[in-house]
Amino acid sequence: MARAAQTTITVDGRPVVIKRKAVKYVRLHVDPKDGHLWVSMPARLGLAHVVAFVRERRSWIEEAQRKVAARQAALAAAAAVPPKVPLSTPIWGQETPLDVREWTGSGAPPAVPAETEAGLVVYVAPGQAGDAAAVWDAIGRFYHSQVELALPTLARKWEPVVGQQAARWTVRAMKTRWGSCRKDTGRITLSRQLAALPPQMLEQVVVHELVHLWVANHGPEFYRRMDQALPGWREIRRAMRRYPAGGGLGPVA
Ligand SMILES: [Zn+2]
Repeated sequence: MARAAQTTITVDGRPVVIKRKAVKYVRLHVDPKDGHLWVSMPARLGLAHVVAFVRERRSWIEEAQRKVAARQAALAAAAAVPPKVPLSTPIWGQETPLDVREWTGSGAPPAVPAETEAGLVVYVAPGQAGDAAAVWDAIGRFYHSQVELALPTLARKWEPVVGQQAARWTVRAMKTRWGSCRKDTGRITLSRQLAALPPQMLEQVVVHELVHLWVANHGPEFYRRMDQALPGWREIRRAMRRYPAGGGLGPVA
């Protein structure tokens, strides 16, 4: 398809980007990122139409641009504030209080936080109790250990059901996905962040990646095997959409 012809005109001091397209009507757009005004219009319509159109909608434009500017200012302000140490973190779907303590023992603080009746005890180096990144790092290591602990049981349960065995299971901090599978090497990688979600979600990902050892893509054969192995997987998958893969629950990716 040919690129839409684009020109910029100025209406009462306001730049307006004009894109001529195969459309029936003139439409105004305010770019959500920088607030610039652009108009899509039928290829044959004269510019005088656009000038009149923009003038008529002046208050709408000003309001829309004001909203974009306010949103951008709020985002900039939020980015300028250093992250706060969290008060709690989800573990297997349960929001769990955090007890951040500065380590006073000898040697380095324990790398992996301990889960206690009162919550998750996170030890950080002296002076680091207010350091959100240090706390998130420790939580990430806890998630990692949780997924590793859960894996042998899940593999024993699901490998016979799916009829495939992973050559190797790996847990990692993943930015955009919950898991991945290399059919050629048989290696399955899981996101450590799955320890934040209800346990059936890790289970669903385990089954999903095992099925990939049969079928690399997400074609009908893949879904047929998923339905066979774990009939409720679609519902679990849908519920997982509430949790962005990667760092969505905190900067632990
Ligand atoms: Zn997949």
